[in-house]
Amino acid sequence: MAKVKTHYEDCDILVVGGGMAGTGATFEARHWGRDLKIVCVEKANIDRSGAVAQGLYAINCYMGMQWDENQPEDHVRYARNDLMGLVREDLGYDMARHVDSAVHMFEEWGLPMMKDEKTGRYLREGKWQIMIHGESYKPIVAEAAKKSADKIYNRIMVTHLLMDESKENRVGGAVGFNMRTGDYYVFRAKTVIVAAGGASHIFKPRAVGEGMGRTWYAPWSNGSAYALPIAVGAKMTQMENRIVLCRFKDGYGPVGAYFLHLKTYTQNANGENYEKKWYEHTKKLVGEYIDHHPVPTCLRNHAFIQETIAGGGPIHMVTTEAFQDPHLETVGWENFLGMTVGQAVVWASQNIDPKYTNPELTTSEPYVMGSHATCSGAWVSGPEDLSPPEYFWGYNRMLTVDGLFGAGDTVGGSAHKFSSGSFTEGRLAAKAAVKYIQDQKAEGINVTDKQCDDFRETIYKPLENYTVGQNEITGGTVSPSYILPIQGLQRLQKIMDEYVGGITSNYMTNGNMLKRGLELLEWLQEDLENVGAEDYHQLMRAWELKHRTLTSQCVTEHTMFREETRWPGYYYRGDHLKLDDENWHCLTVSRRDPKTGKFTLEKVPVYHIVDEKEKKQAS
Ligand SMILES: Cc1cc2nc3c(=O)[nH]c(=O)nc-3n(C[C@H](O)[C@H](O)[C@H](O)COP(=O)(O)OP(=O)(O)OC[C@H]3O[C@@H](n4cnc5c(N)ncnc54)[C@H](O)[C@@H]3O)c2cc1C
Repeated sequence: MAKVKTHYEDCDILVVGGGMAGTGATFEARHWGRDLKIVCVEKANIDRSGAVAQGLYAINCYMGMQWDENQPEDHVRYARNDLMGLVREDLGYDMARHVDSAVHMFEEWGLPMMKDEKTGRYLREGKWQIMIHGESYKPIVAEAAKKSADKIYNRIMVTHLLMDESKENRVGGAVGFNMRTGDYYVFRAKTVIVAAGGASHIFKPRAVGEGMGRTWYAPWSNGSAYALPIAVGAKMTQMENRIVLCRFKDGYGPVGAYFLHLKTYTQNANGENYEKKWYEHTKKLVGEYIDHHPVPTCLRNHAFIQETIAGGGPIHMVTTEAFQDPHLETVGWENFLGMTVGQAVVWASQNIDPKYTNPELTTSEPYVMGSHATCSGAWVSGPEDLSPPEYFWGYNRMLTVDGLFGAGDTVGGSAHKFSSGSFTEGRLAAKAAVKYIQDQKAEGINVTDKQCDDFRETIYKPLENYTVGQNEITGGTVSPSYILPIQGLQRLQKIMDEYVGGITSNYMTNGNMLKRGLELLEWLQEDLENVGAEDYHQLMRAWELKHRTLTSQCVTEHTMFREETRWPGYYYRGDHLKLDDENWHCLTVSRRDPKTGKFTLEKVPVYHIVDEKEKKQAS
């Protein structure tokens, strides 16, 4: 076993991941838990970590209740519509009723907001989005977290959750290692809030080889948010609901400001509005959902994908009209400079000036996340005042493991939270975690040294594998004794791509493909016992891979379970090509048995709380 130094940290609230949700949780934990010890552990450095690392140009979730622009009910209806009927409305409503206050704090903390000169209100990009000069968004929220925490640990990857050995199904902390020093860290905690972001790179990306890091979702989002809870038997929901994004080709530059503010539009290679062409076809698959307004994101993707398969590509964004207006031209460029500089570089390298050339669009490889136009993640308790009994077990945003909370991409069922909603959900989770401690639910937690020592053995095994096996080869990277993290990652991506509905098959899969995919994933899991890491950075890659693989197994199990095509444009079940409301207007919930590694799945009713409330009031 590698000789590493072990550090112990005992705390009340441990926040895993210092992105949007993690900074929100750290900040709010201090507000309610003045005397509590609050620690945040981050894989990178919270000043520039997570999906918002580079900055954003818009806050995508702001109600504007102070001006009666929108109410939380409106947002619930919007998210429900976009997700083809299936969201946790209690969670969505709860986030929406609090999100404005979080945004107001961002402004107080110095985030430059764009204002409408005439009204003085925040400048709207769309119904839910407000525009910001957001290059420094992340450092600003990080500062609030730094001032609130007892300690922030940067450069530590959390690999496992610790479990209480005196009470079944109760969390006891987490362990991880410092990627720079290699030191082992044990965090014994009364509550843990997992806020570790979504998962990219589980499906083969469009950009491979030297361009591999170019994905839409942050390449460092490695599914820890799912793998950590799955490994200890927490239930997950809607993991089949992976997301595919329509974005500018090769740079994945965002299209929101273009559609909403610049009023650009798309067309096929012949200059036609192709979306109309696929209306009847889509109606046969999903019925009246295609008539909803706005058209759900997946259905717009569906038209794009079908048009491309039919030979109508490439699909272009028509920018040449809007860019004649100097103001809109500036907005178009600034949109990238504050958020996705890479897109501007790609255009420059390909001689594309959007004033004169309409740039190409693409559909991305699938990602797994819980905060965007999708809602994969953990099955959590909702708030006391809103949730029906099946959705409530004592503490808001607590997973089905006692003392374990989640926020942001971690939490399933609540789509369209984005940056502000994820921060808000972190606040909600932290408030509940403080209450859990104050209610003395975390008394008598026992985490033995043996548990911590066993994890240390497990965590550093890839270094051992490499050290022992490296002398068997004299050159190259192919060894009979270990696989390197990059080799394992490419194998994972190939399985997910070919069998679980990635780009190679135009997002198509079926029961037989999924069955085979599950078999291959199981064998990959076996081989990951022999992953080899040559240094601490590769050790991180090894654990990222392990987390991605566990997440992928869960995604595949869920995709197998739901025998319908609920979100054409995100993926297709070729053996069940139609949306089937009669049998599948429900949420899917899974649990992996930590002892056997087997998944069980169930259907859970979806409650339309907002309209029920209104119906009751009317009657
Ligand atoms: C390209 C892009 C554009 C977007 N555009 C917008 C927009 O315009 N407006 C908007 O409002 N939202 C936007 N979003 C969405 C927004 O960024 C996310 O909703 C939000 O960041 C999710 O918050 P989170 O805390 O769950 O995840 P993140 O903010 O990604 O934070 C997760 C954190 O966990 C850390 N972590 C991961 N694994 C571990 C581990 N094992 N141990 C320790 N730490 C770990 C990560 O390093 C990271 O800091 C965009 C996202 C992307 C990727």
